[in-house]
Amino acid sequence: MQNGEKRPRAVPSDREIIVVGGSAAGLFTAASVARGGRRVRVLESKPQLEPAPRTLIVTDHFRSQMGASARESIINEIRRFELFTDGRSAHIALTRPDLVIERSRLIPALAREAQQAGAALSFDTRFLGIGPNARGLRVAVESGGKREELHADSVVGADGAASRVARASGWPPVETVPLVQAIVRLPKDCPPDTTRVWFVPDDTPYFYWLIPESPERGALGVIGEHGRDTKRSFERFLEKKQLEPLEWQGARIPVYRGWVPVRRRIGNGEVYLVGDAAAQVKVSTVGGIVTGFRGALGVAQALLHDGKSHELGALRRELGTHWLIRRALHHFRQRDYSQLVDLLDASTRQSLGEINRDESTRLLWNVVSRQPRLVLLGLRGLLMGKGIKS
Ligand SMILES: Cc1cc2nc3c(=O)[nH]c(=O)nc-3n(C[C@H](O)[C@H](O)[C@H](O)COP(=O)(O)OP(=O)(O)OC[C@H]3O[C@@H](n4cnc5c(N)ncnc54)[C@H](O)[C@@H]3O)c2cc1C
Repeated sequence: MQNGEKRPRAVPSDREIIVVGGSAAGLFTAASVARGGRRVRVLESKPQLEPAPRTLIVTDHFRSQMGASARESIINEIRRFELFTDGRSAHIALTRPDLVIERSRLIPALAREAQQAGAALSFDTRFLGIGPNARGLRVAVESGGKREELHADSVVGADGAASRVARASGWPPVETVPLVQAIVRLPKDCPPDTTRVWFVPDDTPYFYWLIPESPERGALGVIGEHGRDTKRSFERFLEKKQLEPLEWQGARIPVYRGWVPVRRRIGNGEVYLVGDAAAQVKVSTVGGIVTGFRGALGVAQALLHDGKSHELGALRRELGTHWLIRRALHHFRQRDYSQLVDLLDASTRQSLGEINRDESTRLLWNVVSRQPRLVLLGLRGLLMGKGIKS
């Protein structure tokens, strides 16, 4: 190159992006980046695309995020929530139904959409480590039992709560909590369009749920803090409700404890995290699908627009509100939950039914403006979290 001559800018479509993890967040990132004209390859450690059947509940925000084929994963709609605590209950009718989606349909549909957009998928390919090279990043993988080295300008870690990409790139580990779920026969008195939630603070600072998958079956679950105690409480709960587990599901899921910066530089390359790998989970309810897609869209925007993304800023605000709600609820005792349910009058329940939990800031302001006594209850919860007893 002559003195003063400018180094030609690389044509963007020549620069490969590697996405590690071929599940919800990774495939969504790959499709979004490929649609923006970049070369993308997804590495997935599983030998093939055969996700085990499992249902998930999401708000109708999902419809606006998904392409037509992913919308085919919707198998049920939830029109009502029933909240229970200590013999009290409150019923909330949803204006826009929640959706129950089947993961074993969603993931193949996302994979098809990513491939149609031009992304390449490599199965049986496990990410091992990462380091700088002259141009960007070198990525060590094990593929079909053999070690290989790949090269990329950017790597996206979409490899879940125990992300190896995050660990290899210097992010601290995300905190996780146990989730236990059993598929049960739907009790006769539970309509298939109604989700039930029980607050039992002696068992868990989170809650139990029963989400109908169909008129016959539902997913009964709980999130706890310690694996063995959570399982024990859950078994007692199943017995009390006289429900037989037909099938067990469970995993550790990340909890959001503040924004995880999603980008790091390694040499001349960039590493990003999306989905569970970045704890992009609504910590009030511990749902991670919609927020993981938002994180994926945000990272795709950043990759396509020199690091800029509106979506990441909006997601950070959203996750921050859920963190505030979780902190307010986390130390509630029985009498606080009883008061909470008593305070949910018709007007507050209307807000809860009209605005969904993926618009949490609007929801929170709307609810507290209709029932200001909830602010005091929430503040008491926050103070209890700081060890100050009221
Ligand atoms: C039982 C259960 C019920 C849930 N219910 C709900 C719900 O109702 N609603 C909701 O919103 N959320 C729910 N969640 C949470 C939701 O499933 C997660 O937030 C979401 O799946 C996270 O997606 P992800 O793509 O970030 O990570 P994951 O789904 O964890 O995907 C990570 C992918 O990376 C791959 N991988 C890992 N390591 C490597 C490696 N070294 N190399 C290559 N590939 C690798 C894995 O094989 C996997 O395919 C539930 C979770 C569980 C466990």
